Order: sequence, then C-alpha cells, then structure tokens
Amino acid sequence: AAKGAGRGRHAWFDATMERELVSRNAVEAGLREGIPLGQFVPYYEPQIDLETGKIIGFEVLARWEHPTRGVIPPDNFIPVAEECGLIADMSVSVMRRAFLEARDWDPSITLSVNIAPAQLKDPWLAQKIVKLLVETGYPANRLEIEITESSLFQNLSLAQSIVGSLKNQGIRLALDDFGTGYSSLAHLRALPFDRIKIDKSFVTAMNKDPESAAIVNAISRLGESLNLPITAEGIEDQGIYDSLRKMGCNKGQGWHFGKPMAIAATRRLLAEAGLLPSARGPLPDEGL
Ligand code: C2E
Ligand code: MG
Ligand code: MG
Ligand code: MG
Repeated sequence: AAKGAGRGRHAWFDATMERELVSRNAVEAGLREGIPLGQFVPYYEPQIDLETGKIIGFEVLARWEHPTRGVIPPDNFIPVAEECGLIADMSVSVMRRAFLEARDWDPSITLSVNIAPAQLKDPWLAQKIVKLLVETGYPANRLEIEITESSLFQNLSLAQSIVGSLKNQGIRLALDDFGTGYSSLAHLRALPFDRIKIDKSFVTAMNKDPESAAIVNAISRLGESLNLPITAEGIEDQGIYDSLRKMGCNKGQGWHFGKPMAIAATRRLLAEAGLLPSARGPLPDEGL
C-alpha cells in the first residue's frame, strides 16, 4: 500500500517520520546523559482531605530540569523512557530524591509515586523499591504506588507477585486514571487495591457536563460499596470541591489546592501548615 501512495505523499511521511525520530533520539540521549546528572527531579502536588481541607500527602510527578530548555513535563519524556528501557533508572532517581526530601516531614504526610506499565514487567521492581526505602530511611507505610489499568494486560501474574511483595512491606496501592482506557470492574479484583483515583477528565468537567458528574458519582458509590477510598484528581475550583464533598468523595487534588511544585515551594507550604519538624537544630544565628 505504501508503494501505491503518490510520490509527494510518500516524501511528506518520510520527512515527518524523520523529525519524530530526531526528537525521539534527542530525548533518549538527554535521558542517558541527564539521569546520572540528577536532571530528573520530583515535583510535589498536594493531596487534600476534602472534609478537613488539610494536606495529607503529595503525588510525586517527575520533571526534567533541562540545563537550557527549562522545566519539561513528563508527557515529553516518559513514553520515550519506557520505549528505550530507561524508565526504571529515571524512576529510581526521582524516587530516591523524593524519599530523601520527604523523610523528615510530618509522619501524617504520605507520598504517591507513579509506576509505569513497563516497570511492572521488571521482576526486581519490588526489591529495587525496598532497597531505596532502606537506603533513604523513608518508611514503607508512608508510600503509595499508583498504577493504571494498562499495567494489568502484559503479565498479570508477574504484576500480582510484584504488588504482593510491595504490600507485604506495608506499601499501599492505588488504581490511577480510573474510568478511562480499558476500564473494567474485573480489574478491581485482579490486584489488592487500597484506593481508586477518578480520572481528572471527569472531575474537571463535572459541573458543566451532567454525564461527567454522573460518572464521578457512580465511581464514588462504587468505592463505597467496595470499601475503597476515592481520590478525585483535577479539582480546579471551589465549585468542583463543593460538589465532590456532597458526593462523599474523601480525598482530592488539583490546581484549586496547588499545582505540582519544586521542593522549595513544597517546604514553604509544609512549614505554613506546621508539617515540618520544628526541632531541626538551631539556625546559625540563634542564641547569639
Ligand atoms: P497522573 O498520574 O494522572 O498525574 C496527574 C496529572 O494531572 C499531572 O500531570 C498533574 O500535573 C495534572 N493535574 C493535577 N491537577 C490538575 C488540575 O486541577 N487540572 C488539570 N487539568 N491537570 C491537573 P503531569 O505532572 O504532567 O503528569 C502527567 C502524567 O505523567 C501523570 O499522570 C503520570 O501518569 C505521568 N508521570 C508523572 N511523573 C511520573 C513518574 O515519575 N513515573 C511515571 N511512570 N509516570 C509519571
Ligand atoms: Mg498518578
Ligand atoms: Mg491520574
Ligand atoms: Mg493521568
């Protein structure tokens, strides 16, 4: 069929493919160079108890702090990292830094870390994460792993054994982006999830679009029946916050509470909320 295509069309495809290949290769080279240099860093998005309005944790979201191009969001490098087998190294680098940064925060504060489908095909994933926890001194019971349903397709029995090892350590498991992709209620039984995250596409639209609101409500009721707490992502304004509270949704995150932020801003937020330890040793000027 490709041979039958006109010459001009063929050339156009080639040029586009070449451009994609060039940028893909540039990203791959950037990953190889940047991971050991620590250019892939955690940003933190606050997670809120919707009843009290208090911060209860943060989702860890990777950012590429590129030396010349600024801060690059994950959609630009995670797919490439997965394709060329660098996702595990990137993820370990970001996790190590997050565990070190968060280990002295208030013990009520949890971290949620995203794990890509390719990582759930790695038989050593659980050991790698446990090793990081031991090295950094970050407690397993303050860690939650987020996976999407696409993780369940490739090798379910391996995914089940990895998740089993993680849960034995006290790490919790969340199902991310629920309601999108190949959502099937059977997936909820395939792994021992502790939480469902409603995809932001339904939440951001729920006060303009009755169908989205109905889906958010249905997922909340499902969580209630299955005794699985729900996190809503994509809470962009007070109106959405109010609607979710009326539906009995217990936990949420989104721009209304805070965008993903670098460590300095995260520490400021924690300090304002009294969630950093006060006994950090005297400052250099104190007591003079
Ligand atoms: P996700 O895990 O579903 O993360 C939520 C995404 O929604 C984040 O985008 C976050 O910045 C964005 N978001 C949060 N609140 C709002 C809101 O109120 N409105 C809107 N419109 N968006 C909001 P981000 O940081 O660009 O991350 C995109 C995806 O990249 C994540 O989706 C996650 O699947 C993936 N990702 C990020 N970091 C990592 C990582 O370290 N490892 C892996 N495997 N995946 C990661
Ligand atoms: Mg997530
Ligand atoms: Mg999500
Ligand atoms: Mg998402």
